[in-house]
Amino acid sequence: MRPLALAAFALLLGVTVSLFAWRASKDEVDRLVASRFDARVAELQTVLEQRMVAYPQVLRGIQAMVSASGHPSRADWARVNQTLQVDSIYPGLTGTVYIRSVPGEQRTEFEREVLGFEPGFQIKPPGERPYYTIVTSVEPRTPSNLPVIGSDSWVHPVRRATLEAARDSGAIQITGKLNLVIDDKPTPAFLMYQAIYQGAAIPDTIEERRDRLLGFATAGCRVGVLMRTILPADLNDVEVRVYDGAEATADGLYFDSHPDVDVSFASHQAQRAVQIGGRTWTVIYAMLPGFAQAAEGALPRQTLVGGILVSLLLTLIVWSLATTRARAQALAVDMTHSLRASEGRFRELAENIDQVFFVADPQYRHFDYISPSFERIWGRSRQELLENPDRWLSWLHPEDVEAVRAVVAAHGGEDDYGTKFRIVRADGEVRWLAAHAFNVARAADEPARVVGFHSDITDQKAAEEKIARYISEIEVSNNDLEQFAYVASHDLREPLRMVSSYLTLLERRYGELLDADGREFLDFAREGAVRLDRLVLDLLGFSRIQRHGNPLAATNLAHVMGDVLRNLTVAIRESGAAISVDLDRLPVVHGDREQLVSVFQNLISNAIKYRSPVRPVRIAVTADSDDGYWRLSVTDNGIGIEPQYFDRIFRIFQRLHSRAEYDGTGIGLAMCKRIVERHGGQIWVQSVPEEGSTFYFTLQAVPPTQSET
Ligand code: ADP
Repeated sequence: MRPLALAAFALLLGVTVSLFAWRASKDEVDRLVASRFDARVAELQTVLEQRMVAYPQVLRGIQAMVSASGHPSRADWARVNQTLQVDSIYPGLTGTVYIRSVPGEQRTEFEREVLGFEPGFQIKPPGERPYYTIVTSVEPRTPSNLPVIGSDSWVHPVRRATLEAARDSGAIQITGKLNLVIDDKPTPAFLMYQAIYQGAAIPDTIEERRDRLLGFATAGCRVGVLMRTILPADLNDVEVRVYDGAEATADGLYFDSHPDVDVSFASHQAQRAVQIGGRTWTVIYAMLPGFAQAAEGALPRQTLVGGILVSLLLTLIVWSLATTRARAQALAVDMTHSLRASEGRFRELAENIDQVFFVADPQYRHFDYISPSFERIWGRSRQELLENPDRWLSWLHPEDVEAVRAVVAAHGGEDDYGTKFRIVRADGEVRWLAAHAFNVARAADEPARVVGFHSDITDQKAAEEKIARYISEIEVSNNDLEQFAYVASHDLREPLRMVSSYLTLLERRYGELLDADGREFLDFAREGAVRLDRLVLDLLGFSRIQRHGNPLAATNLAHVMGDVLRNLTVAIRESGAAISVDLDRLPVVHGDREQLVSVFQNLISNAIKYRSPVRPVRIAVTADSDDGYWRLSVTDNGIGIEPQYFDRIFRIFQRLHSRAEYDGTGIGLAMCKRIVERHGGQIWVQSVPEEGSTFYFTLQAVPPTQSET
């Protein structure tokens, strides 16, 4: 599959799984939250019910105390309230009230009695009625409570119905929602009534209850205060709304724990009923945003975010793995291709080269590969060698077997070695081979291997032999020639000397008889003989350079130069030449002193000979060292040489001037060249016509320790 598709698939899979996980964890959290909410509601409801049920019990206590002692006076009522600690234990109570049941015919007597402990007592509303329920006492006697004294609850239909129910049931009954004005503010509240009968017990029948009714213990209760007491002070997770009645209506709203919060969108709500004093209250619980604990609320989000992050990571990993794999595959394919190609090229090369190529162990006991040219060069079967690797020894020329064996034994472990040997082919032909073998670098656990080549050098060998033969022939003939030149020049000098001496005799004896022409002819003849002698001498010297020189040895050029200056004393004096040379700076070189004298002498005498007619002769000799060599120079300010003759002047008999201009044989520089070359050096010239020339030549330096001649 393509990396992109794989990565996309991984991403899709990861995101899908994350979404599922998110969904599942959200459901789980929702379920958890719902059940926790239910539990919380149940907890609050229990508290509410318990406290609500307990609350009216205050009236029970009053009932018990009052019924035993008849109608309470103001002081009685205060004592009862004090005993029961009404104001401290029952929060939310506006006060406790004693309501006396007064049949119309007893009104006067009743009024007189109450006026006895409650001066200024008046029935409210005034007027004659068949039956009254009149407040005679109130505690605490606060300014807002006191006005209720004297009021008749029976005239209020709602209160009257509640009073009747209380009277007939003997149980505590409460009114519906009232807005009691407390501290000038309408405050949601209810009144609760407990009928008080003569005798401690509550009469069994309704008739008896009506007959024996004394009055009612009553208390007003502010629901808000009550609820705040009942509910936890730090209630911030659930809103509690309490309604009067079996349904939640706006009019019936008693209490709202969080009036500022709009819970119409609350995700969880619950409605419960509370029974109190014969009435049903409705309690609505709504979940506040703070309900679900942070961790629980965040869990699904974390799951989703984490899941998506993991998916992205997964995608990245898959992408990277897939591309790496793809790259690795591509690389492998490439490598395989190039390996094949290279192997193919190698094979092609190995099979087509003119040499035998082979791979074997270092002792040549096993061959991994032998190129086909083996059969052509060795004239033997490759197969045979592969099957019997030792065979090759028997195919060598018998005279070379031991030498080859020795080479293999001596060099088997070396990096690179070679040898030459002869083989005898199956057809009997003898051939020369040059062999080269290399040890191949290998891993520690691989067997040692050598790679080798055999080239057929039979032709080369033949050529070498031919050359060697020629060289020896040439040497012989050179020797002969030299010998001949030596003998010839030597022998030539003999008749020459004779010619010269007879010419001298001729002049001495018959000079007087000769006319001017005759004497001139005689001079020419004698001059010719002298020149010929010089030529023969020069040639003799030239021919002896190579074979008859002294062995090369450490030679101090200062001594050489001393000889030269001595030899040329006359010429120098006559020409007035100024020769500058720092003898102390002339080096010790590897050379033949006699021949080096000859070189310097030739160069300096040429510098004098080819001087400028217009300037005094100046000659400088210098020496510079250069990487194991000394470069010597002889500079003059003479007539100079045209560049095209720079090479030619070093050849024998090559002269640039006629003898009439400058005398000479044309051998001097050729001799210099030959001597310098015998010393392993070179000679050359640099020159500017009409200005002067510099002749350079190099000689091998010697270490200063070597002795000098
Ligand atoms: P030669 O006997 O003629 O001097 P050389 O071999 O010594 O023979 O010189 C060859 C030629 O090189 C000379 O004929 C001359 O023309 C030229 N030559 C040699 N040395 C100098 C020099 N110092 N200045 C100018 N020309 C020179």
